[in-house]
Amino acid sequence: MSGSLNPFEIAQRQLAQAAEILKLDEATHEMLRWPKRELAITIPVKMDDGTTKVFRGFRVQYNDARGPTKGGLRWHPNETLDTVRALAAWMTWKTSVVDIPLGGGKGGIICNPKELSDGEKERLARGWIRAVNQFIGPEKDVPAPDVYTTPQIMAWMSDEFYVIRGYNAPGVITGKPLPVGGSQGRGDATARGGLITVREWAKVKGVDLSKATAAIQGYGNAGSFAAVLGKELYGITTVAVSDSKGGIYKKDGLDPAAVLKHKQETGSVVGFPGSEPIDNEKILELDVDLLVPSALENVITKENAGNIKAKCVAELANGPTTPEADEILYKNGVYVIPDFLCNAGGVTVSYFEQVQNNANFYWEIDEVHKRLDQKMTAAFHAVHEAAEKHSVNNRIGAYLVAVARVAEAMKLRGWV
Ligand code: GLU
Repeated sequence: MSGSLNPFEIAQRQLAQAAEILKLDEATHEMLRWPKRELAITIPVKMDDGTTKVFRGFRVQYNDARGPTKGGLRWHPNETLDTVRALAAWMTWKTSVVDIPLGGGKGGIICNPKELSDGEKERLARGWIRAVNQFIGPEKDVPAPDVYTTPQIMAWMSDEFYVIRGYNAPGVITGKPLPVGGSQGRGDATARGGLITVREWAKVKGVDLSKATAAIQGYGNAGSFAAVLGKELYGITTVAVSDSKGGIYKKDGLDPAAVLKHKQETGSVVGFPGSEPIDNEKILELDVDLLVPSALENVITKENAGNIKAKCVAELANGPTTPEADEILYKNGVYVIPDFLCNAGGVTVSYFEQVQNNANFYWEIDEVHKRLDQKMTAAFHAVHEAAEKHSVNNRIGAYLVAVARVAEAMKLRGWV
C-alpha cells in the first residue's frame, strides 16, 4: 500500500475501499473519483506599500448530484490544488453523511493571512469573488469559512457578490456575521456538532464524560470551542492544547476560556500561566480519553499511530489521519470519529443559515441547537452501525453511508 501524504490520493484510496464494498459500477466510481469542475485563478491585489501582489487561488466543485456544491475557503501558504480537491471530495461525503441537500466543494488561496493587513485581506477577498463570481451562487456553489477565513471575510465576499449582481443574495455565502444574514449558532457549530458525536460515542461505550480528559491539537475556531463547550456541556477536562507555535499541559486541567483569552492577547496558547510546555508531537500521544486533532491534515501517521493512547480520536480537522494510521488505530481498538462526520456541524448550520436566508426568516438559537443535535446524532449512529455491520473502521463506515447516497442521486438523475 502506498504511503503517499497527498491528500487527494488519500481521498481516492479511501473511496476505493468503500467502492469495493458497495460494489459500485465503474462509471459511478470514476465520477466520484474526480471533481466535476475546477477553477484556478490569479488575483492581483494592491498592497499597502503601493506594490501589486498576484495571489493564486482555486475553487473545486466536486459533486452536485444531491444539491449545490458547498464548502469553505482556506487561506494558507501551503495550499495546493490537490489539497483543495481532497477537501472538496470530503465536503461531498460530509453533506451526504448528515443528509443535507447539498453537494461538496472547496476553495483555497495561497497566502499567509498573518502577514496581511485588514485592507489587504479585504481586497484579496473581493478579488477572489470577482474571479469566481460566475461560478458561484445560492443555487450553484456556496462558500463558507475554513482555515484562516473569518465571518468578516465572508461579509466582504458576499458584499462584493451583491455589488456585481446588483441585489442582495445572502444565500451565496454562509458563516456571515449575524447583522448581515448569519445564523445563530454558526460560530461554534463545528465544535458543538463534534461534541454531540463524542457524547454519542460515550453512550455507546459507557464512558462518563464528566470524568474524561482531553488533548486538543489546534486552538483555532474548532479546537478552542471544543475545549470551552466540552467543559460547559459535558464536564470534560482538557489537560493539553496546542497551536502552530507550541503546546501547553496541565495535569489537573486547563481553564479553556482563560487559555483562549491568553491566545487572543498574545497570539498563542504558549506561556499560559500555570501550564507546562509540551511539544506538538507529544500532545498526540498523551494518556487521555479523548484526542481532538483540530488543525491540519496528516498529523496522525504510521509513525505515531501506534503510540496513541486515547480511547477516542474525534477529528475536528479535515484529513488528520492517513489510511495507514487508520488501520493501526482500528487494530489497537482506538475509536475514531472520522473527520467528515465529526466536523459536519459547521456545514450543517451553514445549511440552516441558507434556509433562513432563503426564507428571510431567522431562527432562535434553541431551534438551531435542536436541529443540529438531530442531524449529528442520526449521522453518528448510521456510521457506527455501518462500520459494525461490515467490520470496517469508522471512516470506511462513514464512506459507505455517504457514498451510497451520492451514488443513488447520480443514478436517479441519469448520470450513470
Ligand atoms: N469549512 C467547513 C468544513 O470544512 C464548513 C463548510 C461550510 O460551512 O460550508 O466543513
